[in-house]
Amino acid sequence: MKKTSLQKLLPGLKRNVLLKNYTTFKIGGAAQFFFVAKNKKDVMKAVQTSKKLKLPFFILGEGSNLLISDRGFKGLVVKIRNTKYEIPRTRTSSVRGRQNILVYAEAGVSFPVLVKATTELGLSGLEWAGGLPGTLGGAIRGNAGAFRGEIKDVILEVEALDEKGNLKTLSRKQCNFSYRSSIFKKNNWIVLSTALKLGKGNKKLIQSIAKSHIRYREEKHPLEYPNAGSIFKNCDLKKIPKRLRASFNKVVKTDPFPLIPSAHLISEAGLKGLRVGQAEVSTKHPNYIVNLGNTTAKDVIKLINLVKKEVKDKFGIVLEEEIKLVGF
Ligand SMILES: Cc1cc2nc3c(=O)[nH]c(=O)nc-3n(C[C@H](O)[C@H](O)[C@H](O)COP(=O)(O)OP(=O)(O)OC[C@H]3O[C@@H](n4cnc5c(N)ncnc54)[C@H](O)[C@@H]3O)c2cc1C
Repeated sequence: MKKTSLQKLLPGLKRNVLLKNYTTFKIGGAAQFFFVAKNKKDVMKAVQTSKKLKLPFFILGEGSNLLISDRGFKGLVVKIRNTKYEIPRTRTSSVRGRQNILVYAEAGVSFPVLVKATTELGLSGLEWAGGLPGTLGGAIRGNAGAFRGEIKDVILEVEALDEKGNLKTLSRKQCNFSYRSSIFKKNNWIVLSTALKLGKGNKKLIQSIAKSHIRYREEKHPLEYPNAGSIFKNCDLKKIPKRLRASFNKVVKTDPFPLIPSAHLISEAGLKGLRVGQAEVSTKHPNYIVNLGNTTAKDVIKLINLVKKEVKDKFGIVLEEEIKLVGF
């Protein structure tokens, strides 16, 4: 494909952009083409162009839930950077005595920025996400959650592009949210913007909850090394062989339903500190793999497979990746 023809269609397009610089794991080869979409029109144009040219494309948020291959991505990476949001200062509706504020935000808004902005105004609904990295669009696609909250809880509606490039507005119900999943993830739809329903609350309390989650993460998670958050989803207790359930009683957490933390299984399998090259199963939080230096995606994959095999051999449980693998 001619560089010039693509560049004409997408002004500002770059070539051979190293993706490791756009991920929290600091791993990954180059994108053949790289385009920063600053608004909805840019996103739509990039998608239409890649469809027209039959060029594979990949939507990149903050890169906090990804492992990108050492070979990078052959096609067009669309970096989502539409970052507008509006928080009305007055209440917009009142349901059963609760004052609601409808916040409008584009998909490229940084989640930490939105959490700070809303909690500072005493708005309740996002405080569970204190310390959660990434963009709002990435969070909606994966129904991000922590500390008994999930993004789905505050969604009113989402504007998205479907696989054919058609614009759609979906109600929360139509988003088909489930544990770390949604219609956007299942069908590869692109989140463009959303309306969130937040409540008016006690500012001091809301801020202190968000801050306590940030502190918890700083203390308990290996944030001193590049990482991609939890590598595996936690395991649905219902899917665990019945004979094993009783032995996990003490560690089951109900968030959002009874789950066995994968970190516990990895730890019990004796895998803390296991290394392949410069990739290590964190000793601090064993569901994290940390990049100790210039680790490769190949080594991370080897380590992931080793962990899965050991946990399967010990408990008969198959761990499922939460991170998205790109370019493999
Ligand atoms: C230290 C750390 C802690 C974390 N803690 C948590 C946690 O507690 N709970 C949790 O749920 N997650 C957690 N994560 C994972 C991650 O933060 C979330 O999944 C986040 O929402 C991903 O957003 P992103 O913009 O970084 O997405 P990316 O990593 O850039 O992309 C992830 C996937 O989302 C897709 N995507 C991105 N933007 C859009 C869009 N606009 N429309 C459609 N698809 C899109 C990408 O194509 C890709 O498939 C953590 C990660 C780190 C590094």
